[in-house]
This record gives sequence, structure tokens and C-alpha cells, in this order.
Amino acid sequence: KRKAIIAGNWKMNKTPSEAKALLTELAPMVKDADCEVIACVPFVDLTVALEATEGTNIQIGAENCHWEESGAFTGEISAKMLAEMGVPYVVLGHSERRQYFGETDETVNKRTKAALAHGLKPIVCVGELLWERECDITEEVIARQIKLDLFDVSAEDVKKTVIAYEPVWAIGTGKTATADQAEEVCAFIRATLAKLYGQEVADAVTIQYGGSMNAGNCEELLSKTDVDGGLIGGASLVAEKFQPIVAAA
Ligand code: 13P
Repeated sequence: KRKAIIAGNWKMNKTPSEAKALLTELAPMVKDADCEVIACVPFVDLTVALEATEGTNIQIGAENCHWEESGAFTGEISAKMLAEMGVPYVVLGHSERRQYFGETDETVNKRTKAALAHGLKPIVCVGELLWERECDITEEVIARQIKLDLFDVSAEDVKKTVIAYEPVWAIGTGKTATADQAEEVCAFIRATLAKLYGQEVADAVTIQYGGSMNAGNCEELLSKTDVDGGLIGGASLVAEKFQPIVAAA
């Protein structure tokens, strides 16, 4: 069985002092976790987050990175910069970046390759919009995202990549996919990976579910064969809400 990964995605929340407070509170609460525990935090929180979690089992991630190593890209942060800081994970292609910041499968692919080239483990997010589900093209959308986001990534690197299935209609809406809906798409993602990279690679990849996961629904979601963890937004911002999800995995 793959080791579960529970990752918080803080989005644009927590100042550095708030980040330090939350991680300091959380660390003793999750120290005996069976799963991997990650907190993906805003760029400006990375330094304090790395310090506050030193010697703990909480790993830190960034929420994006650029594909170039350096240059005239005002406001951007490169994978090389994150690597030098010692940041192990980076979220890429989150639906909020796709929806509000013009992220495309092509740019997600470039960022993914850059992250891997610098030894970062990407958490690549995929997921269908509500109308795509209603039009019954969820599998087409997901297959296209997997194919394009991982285009030209070696099988060895795909194994280091975490895929987060986040149905866009379930993000921040309180509407969770049912455990069966989540399993159906996570299994489809694994089958797509198997077609592209072979079963051994597909079996090694951690596939998370994300979208209104909380203490009440996590157990059923995480009990599913192809749901290897969670990417948690709202419930990752409060230690008492995040801890039970870690404990369930
Ligand atoms: P919520 O848990 O707030 O729905 O957010 C999910 C998400 O987008 C995690 O990346």
C-alpha cells in the first residue's frame, strides 16, 4: 500500500507570524502520524515555516514556481530558488491558478519539469469544472490534463510526482465529491498513468483527493483504494481541524 500524504494548501492565508504559530501548534499534534504531513504555504512564509518545522515530521511546500531559473519575470519565484531554500514540495496547476491567473496545461507542464529538474516534488492538481461533469466529459478533461501536464516527464520523475484530483466544484464550496466519485476519478487517473507509463509507475504514484475534505468526511474518502491522501484547503488553516485528517490517514 502506498504511504498516504496529507497536505495542507494554505492558499493566500497566514502571515509569517501566523504561520509560525500554526505550525508550532500543529507539530506536536501530528508527530506520530502514519502518513506524510505537508504544509504548502505562501512564499513569504517559507523561511519561518522551514524553521518552525525543523526536526519535526512536517514537510513544507510552496504553492507555485516559475519554469525559468532566473531572469526578467517580475514577481515570479523559480524552482531553483525554492530548491536552495530546502523546500521539498511545490503545488502546481491548482485550479485557482488556472481560473484566475491564466495557468494552462502547457505552463503547468513547464513548471512541473522545472520543479523536477531541481529536485522538488510537484503536487500537480487536476480536476473538472462543474459544467464539464454535467456534460459527462470528466474523464476526457482529466486524461487531457494528465497527458499534457506530464508531457515529456520521464517515468522515474512521474513516480516522484503527486497528483491531486480536485473537482473544481468541490473546492471551498462545502460540496465534497462522494467517496465513490473520488475513487472513480482517482482510479481513472491511475489507469491513465498506467497507459502512459506502465502499471508499475502508476502503482507508485500518490493520488490525493482535494475539495472540502474535513474531519467528518476524510475517513470514507481515505478508505478508497486509489485515494492515497488529501490536499486540504480550509481545514488546514486550523490545527484542530487538520489534525483529525492526518490521524485518519
Ligand atoms: P478546500 O479544502 O477549502 O475545499 O480547498 C481544497 C483545495 O483547493 C486544496 O488545494
